[in-house]
Amino acid sequence: MTERTFSIIKPDATKRNLTGKVNAVIEDAGLRIVAQRRIQMSQAQAEKFYEVHKERPFFGELVEFMTSAPVVVQVLEGDNAVAKYREVMGATNPEQAAEGTIRKLFALSVGENSVHGSDSQDNAKIEIAQFFTDDQIVG
Ligand code: UDP
Repeated sequence: MTERTFSIIKPDATKRNLTGKVNAVIEDAGLRIVAQRRIQMSQAQAEKFYEVHKERPFFGELVEFMTSAPVVVQVLEGDNAVAKYREVMGATNPEQAAEGTIRKLFALSVGENSVHGSDSQDNAKIEIAQFFTDDQIVG
């Protein structure tokens, strides 16, 4: 079933000029980039985006990291895009990520792990709506 998911190329990757290389892995996996924009996230945007992690010990560091440099926000489309992209990203901790995944290839640590991807279809819809209007997504 064709689905959409939300992706962020995080500051550790944009700072190292890896946007194109990350996008190559995404496209080689059969996912289509149907919207994309480079932004500087504000503190308020990052806090809202990661609200579910508000009580976690790493929340402050995570918000600081996500606002430390530009990010690239994206909408990806394809068959089972949510699960497919989670597979392409690899495990949160790059030491546990499978060969060939974005995090295995590029991530620096469990925090600076290069990409975000929605973990469910419901969250994908909420996250996409936080950064894109319908007319900005061209499938
Ligand atoms: N994170 C962190 N320390 C941790 C766990 C997570 O800094 O111990 C950061 C990391 O950037 C991760 C994000 O918080 O990608 C969200 O965590 P989640 O468990 O939702 O992982 P994901 O869905 O991104 O794999």
